[in-house]
Amino acid sequence: MPQVRTRFAPSPTGYLHLGGLRTAAYAYLYARKRQGVFILRIEDTDQEREVPGAEEQLRRSLKLAGLTYDEGPDVGGDFGPYVQSLRKDIYAPYAWELVEKGAAYPCFCAKERLDQSRAEAERNGLTFKYDRRCLSIPKDEARRRVESGEKYVIRQHIPLTGFASFDDAQYGHIEVDVSQLDDMVLMKADGFPTYNFANVIDDHSMGITHILRGTEFLSSTPKYNLLYEAFGWEKPVYIHLPLVMADATRKLSKRHGDPSFEDLLGEGYLPEAVINYIALLGWNPGDEREFFTLKELEQAFTLEGLSKSPSMFDKNKLTWMNGEYIRKLPFERYFELAMPWLERTLPGGGRDPKRLAELLHGRTEVFNRIPGMAAFLSDMPEYDLSLYTHKKMKSDPAVAADSLAFAQPILRGVDDWTEAALHDALMPAIAQSGRKNGQVLWPLRVAISGLMSTPGGATEIAYLLGKDETLSRVTAALERLSAHNKPD
Ligand code: GLU
Repeated sequence: MPQVRTRFAPSPTGYLHLGGLRTAAYAYLYARKRQGVFILRIEDTDQEREVPGAEEQLRRSLKLAGLTYDEGPDVGGDFGPYVQSLRKDIYAPYAWELVEKGAAYPCFCAKERLDQSRAEAERNGLTFKYDRRCLSIPKDEARRRVESGEKYVIRQHIPLTGFASFDDAQYGHIEVDVSQLDDMVLMKADGFPTYNFANVIDDHSMGITHILRGTEFLSSTPKYNLLYEAFGWEKPVYIHLPLVMADATRKLSKRHGDPSFEDLLGEGYLPEAVINYIALLGWNPGDEREFFTLKELEQAFTLEGLSKSPSMFDKNKLTWMNGEYIRKLPFERYFELAMPWLERTLPGGGRDPKRLAELLHGRTEVFNRIPGMAAFLSDMPEYDLSLYTHKKMKSDPAVAADSLAFAQPILRGVDDWTEAALHDALMPAIAQSGRKNGQVLWPLRVAISGLMSTPGGATEIAYLLGKDETLSRVTAALERLSAHNKPD
């Protein structure tokens, strides 16, 4: 068996979107599983669509995702260059080889004439097909015209009758009636190959054995295969992958505002969580396992586990999974990643960023939730007095007013403002007074946070706020409560 060689062949037209990331991941995983080689090839023959910087972004994204390629633009390899615009000169000799074989021919038709026929076809609701006017030019004459400098393209000569077909590992036998195919351009007038042609030549000349790519290419593959047949080349194994949908009607796309991989990282998703989630969108291990490191995916991945039907991107599920990954991070790593987010609401991360991070660690589903969860520490939120009412805690605004008035002097008396000291001052005093813990701690937490749920309880929050801020929030709460509780 020859060594497995797979490739990811993005066009540098923007950020790596999640469908692209999944294709790259499957091509990578398949190569790793089979001790093969994974290649990155940049398909930039359509220079008009190219976005400056997109190639670097794609490379960066693959690195962040951990999908290391063995051969590629910046790592080299025996089959380079790995950027099509740098391979420009290799394609024409192949095209001429096809001309020799009668599988392609030079075409001199003026653009204006073709544009006119295209417009006419469109007006009549027909798909434009080149009328093969130049097919009848004798080879010698065509050569002479090319050599004399006349403008030309090279077209594929599609057989007049029959079927073009191939067997897809996923979708089985796919065939099209050749009468539906156009004599597509292989080499453009500017000397560049078309996207379709360069793709075939490169897959062959880079020794690609397995092509994993989106189903959008399923219908053009028979046409590519006519080229393989004309050259007499062995065909690679094709594995087309079902779409990743945003909802029931549309596929995931950056244009519609769906996030790219780097958008998700920017929001505070972990690359390892995104890869885990994305790998399961269209593949399953055959059992109930949901959590996989990239290494584990490399072991577990099989083509049999690929699904044939489209899968739906579910951000809530990703968020849940990301939360599980964050919880499993060693605290020091969590702290390092959380700090820049804490600083967005609290200069320097507040009085004790480490303690705050400890309290937030188990509640962080995505890092971008941190500023929201910590904001109450820098700005006291507005809140409704109904928050003081809590049946289980036996609290209501009247109880709250009493409890806060009780707690205020105790808090004032604490000099060494630590969680332990606050605890030791409050708890015995509450017990002695005959009050229930919840009757004091619930209102206190509401008074100093304005929130129903917080990272940590009353003493932790009081500690994080510091003595002055805690007391001033308690005073403000008492004023509001006494105005509210005053009999009319
Ligand atoms: N260059 C194509 C794209 O960016 C991929 C083609 C292929 O994988 O064969 O969608």
